[in-house]
Amino acid sequence: MGSTGTGWSIEVIRDDVTRGQFKAALFDFDGTVSLIRQGWQEVMVPYFTELLLQVDREASKEQTACYVRDFVDELTGKQTIYQCIRLAEEIRRRGGQPLDPLEYKNEYHRRLLERIDHRLQGLKDGRIAPDELLVPGVLDFLTALRSRGIKLYLASGTDEVYVLAEAELLGVSAFFDGGIYGALDQYHLFSKAKVIERMIAEHKLAGPHLLGVGDGFVEIENVKAVGGFAVGLASDELHREGVDLWKRERLIRAGADIIIPDFSQTQTLMEYLFP
Ligand SMILES: [Mg+2]
Repeated sequence: MGSTGTGWSIEVIRDDVTRGQFKAALFDFDGTVSLIRQGWQEVMVPYFTELLLQVDREASKEQTACYVRDFVDELTGKQTIYQCIRLAEEIRRRGGQPLDPLEYKNEYHRRLLERIDHRLQGLKDGRIAPDELLVPGVLDFLTALRSRGIKLYLASGTDEVYVLAEAELLGVSAFFDGGIYGALDQYHLFSKAKVIERMIAEHKLAGPHLLGVGDGFVEIENVKAVGGFAVGLASDELHREGVDLWKRERLIRAGADIIIPDFSQTQTLMEYLFP
C-alpha cells in the first residue's frame, strides 16, 4: 500500500490472510478508541519500579525500569490485575513480602486518576470535545463497519465500570451493538479470549469472519489464535499522528497482519479490508 496524504499508510505484514468476509469485529479500548488514559504507562512503570527498588536496593534504577516496562507491555491488553500479580511475584522473587495484588491495582489506579481527572472532568462539563480524546478517524471507521453490517464488540482490560462510563463520555457506546466488556473484580470471569469465544459461538463464526483491532499484544495474539485478521494500531497517543515504533515492533511480534497509525484514512483502510 502506498502512503496517502500526510504520511499515512498501511504497512502490510502478511498479505496471505483472507479479507472481505468479516462479520464481527473486536475493538480494544484504550489506545485504540480512547485517548483518555494516554500516558498510563508513565504512572504504572515508575510506581512498580519504585516498589522493586525498595526490596532490591542494589539494583540499577534504569535497568529495573526497563525490566518493568517489558513485562507491563507484554501483559498489556489483559486486565490490570495481571500486571499487579506479576509485580507481586517479582517482589517475592527479590525476597520481599508482597501485598495483595489488588492493593497495588488500587494504588496504581488512584495515581492514574490524578493524572487523567482533568480529561474526565473536561469531557463532562464540555470544556473538552470528545474528538480531542478519540483516536483520529475512529468514528468514521466504526460507522463504515456498521454500515457493512459488521457486529461490533468492545473489550478492555480496564475495569468494566470505567470502560462503560468513558465510552459514554466519548459518544461511542452505541456503535458496539455486540456489547462492551471490561475487567471484573472476579477477574477469571473475563478475558478477551472469552469475548472472542462468545462472538464465535453467538454468530457461528469461522476465523475469516473475525476482525480484531488493537494497539496491545494480547488482543492481537487472541485474534490470530482463532484465525482472524488482526489490525495492529501503532497509535502515537501523545502526538495523535504517525506510528509509535515501540508499539509497532510489539504488534508485529504478536502477529498483526497490518500496521496503521490511526483510522484517519478510513476509505483506504476499508478498501484494503474489503478488496
Ligand atoms: Mg490498548
